[in-house]
Amino acid sequence: MTNSSDSIRSYRARWVVPVDGPPIDGGVVCVRGDRIHSIGTPDACAAGVFEDLGDVLLLPGLVNAHTHLELGGLRGRITSRNLWDWFDELVKLNRSPDAEIERRRAVLDGAAESIAGGATTIGDISRTGASAELLVQSPIRKVCYLELISGARTLPNDAVTLCKQFDSLRRAITQDDRLRLGISPHAPYSVTRSDLCAAIELATEHNAPLTMHFLETADEARWLHEGGGRVADYLSRYQVRRGESTPPGDVLKHLESCGALGRKMLLAHVNYVDDATIARLAASRCSVVWCPRTHSYFGHPPHRWRELLAAGVNVCLGTDSLASTPTLSMLDEMRYIQTCFPDSEPATILAMATRHGAEALAMSHAVGTLSPGKRADIIAVRWSSNGPQDPLRNLLHGTGDLVKVWIGGENVHCSPSS
Ligand SMILES: [Zn+2]
Repeated sequence: MTNSSDSIRSYRARWVVPVDGPPIDGGVVCVRGDRIHSIGTPDACAAGVFEDLGDVLLLPGLVNAHTHLELGGLRGRITSRNLWDWFDELVKLNRSPDAEIERRRAVLDGAAESIAGGATTIGDISRTGASAELLVQSPIRKVCYLELISGARTLPNDAVTLCKQFDSLRRAITQDDRLRLGISPHAPYSVTRSDLCAAIELATEHNAPLTMHFLETADEARWLHEGGGRVADYLSRYQVRRGESTPPGDVLKHLESCGALGRKMLLAHVNYVDDATIARLAASRCSVVWCPRTHSYFGHPPHRWRELLAAGVNVCLGTDSLASTPTLSMLDEMRYIQTCFPDSEPATILAMATRHGAEALAMSHAVGTLSPGKRADIIAVRWSSNGPQDPLRNLLHGTGDLVKVWIGGENVHCSPSS
């Protein structure tokens, strides 16, 4: 425990961007122990060690709300742009003799790459549970979601094996602000009704965050109404218990009847959504994670993130896995949005990458803004001397790289050039 004033470190920057308030010109962030003590102008600075970081922007660490670090070894190795063909390639590669070693190596490499790209908190989905054990070794803050696919060859493949895995990990690792276990029933089409209800019950019992892939493809949206097509083909080839996975018709009603919507579930992708569903998602207080570069990779029609936000849905950002995006950098992700949607508000992009992500992962008490009392998860991004003078536009239009990253007050990354 560090309480004395001499343990306070104050960092001055060209701009401090707290996210829950306006940017502060020449501002200071004071850190005591693992928490933010105060922010403001240098005259309000607490006693202790003072460091002038020069021409940088100081922001809260970014939140990558949807990734699969276990798939990191597949970067650039899958060529299909149709999700179902992509999935076939992925399954084939995942069954190769070296796959397990590759998966384990990719988890920690991916955590380091995530930090080097500005993320200090991630929502990581694990197919095998291995990433939760491995990520204990990384300073990154994380929700490790254990993924359930009913009848899959890899465990967990039903509610019983999910409960067992959750329980053994819960006993093996200490959960705190740095690591929380979550639960991810994979998608409405790949989890049986009984497994879905049991998974949600398990999450409720342990107050564990929940996430699910949802309306990712046009085939899924069609299958939910009519059955058949590529989803039925996927089920017949990869799932033993396909007989139970009948199309539910009204998918939101299906989720609701299993108790999912009352749990503020984080829905991944939501690429095919109509106005009525947007209104219902807003009413249910679900969050939606949009993965912009992965969305483009698969060639989906424009994502309705602005309509979702306007309706009051908490939209946040993710990279998805390296099997469908070139990097795990959230800074790249934000700049990609700014390039594709030049008329979008920089403050909205930043909010999605910070505060909204924290809310979606049930971590807003600890991270997402530079606020006194929250964890000192902070990133310093180099000011682009040839970029716009407005701090947020400079951040998003610029090419300024990441200079430093702190997680819980601890400096966990310095760029080689700093
Ligand atoms: Zn995913």
